[in-house]
Amino acid sequence: MPLADVHCHLDLFNNEEIKEVIRRAQDAQLKAIITNGINPESNRKTLDLAKRFPLVRPALGLYPTDAIKLRGEEIEDELEFIQKNKDAIAAIGEVGLDNTAKDNGLLKRQGEILEKLIALSEKMRKPLILHTRKAEQEAIDMLESASVKNPLLHCFCGKLKLVRRAADNGYHFSIPAAIVRMEHFQKVVEMLPLPQLHAETDSPYLSPYKEQKNEPSFIIESVRKIAEIKSMTIEDTAGNLFMNYQKIFT
Ligand SMILES: [Zn+2]
Repeated sequence: MPLADVHCHLDLFNNEEIKEVIRRAQDAQLKAIITNGINPESNRKTLDLAKRFPLVRPALGLYPTDAIKLRGEEIEDELEFIQKNKDAIAAIGEVGLDNTAKDNGLLKRQGEILEKLIALSEKMRKPLILHTRKAEQEAIDMLESASVKNPLLHCFCGKLKLVRRAADNGYHFSIPAAIVRMEHFQKVVEMLPLPQLHAETDSPYLSPYKEQKNEPSFIIESVRKIAEIKSMTIEDTAGNLFMNYQKIFT
């Protein structure tokens, strides 16, 4: 039963932890883990992890709240760095919009940077992994006007009306293992056809278990819940999800 975790942050585990985390992922039958960079430093760590562990595939990106701390030329340098690593990476991510600060000026700047990242993903023919907190509609507007194909909305917490709109556009959604305690994601899984679904952990964040740090081996919680909602066996669900992973992240 092959499994893939399409979104996590392995660079946030320390050097001692990481070997154990990868070993447990292997034992849990994970065949691929996409770890996401969020700024220049994390992008380099992400690439390094992928070199050390064959199971790990890197995505390089600029997280919206990190991106706005960079100067224009630093952004350009990082876009160039991402492009230089074209052959090594599975996707561009984590990128997106985050309006938790409720600041329209900052959101506008994030939008300008996201526009560049969208253009880069088109040019490089790499899928985009998006974070869209408190700016879900703005993000979908941007994806639609740029006609982005197959974006992956990670941990999408927008209203169900927006879920419907993104689903109708053919967008992909990755469902965190924390679905076991978050009803919103159970509804998202009900609404979406299986070919548009993926499983993620977002580890070390969003653990499915309250008192344990999240890690890729917990991905089975996501698969199990999707299987239950779709009335399928865990094996069938895992097989389909793995196929979805392969289709997007070739
Ligand atoms: Zn993330």
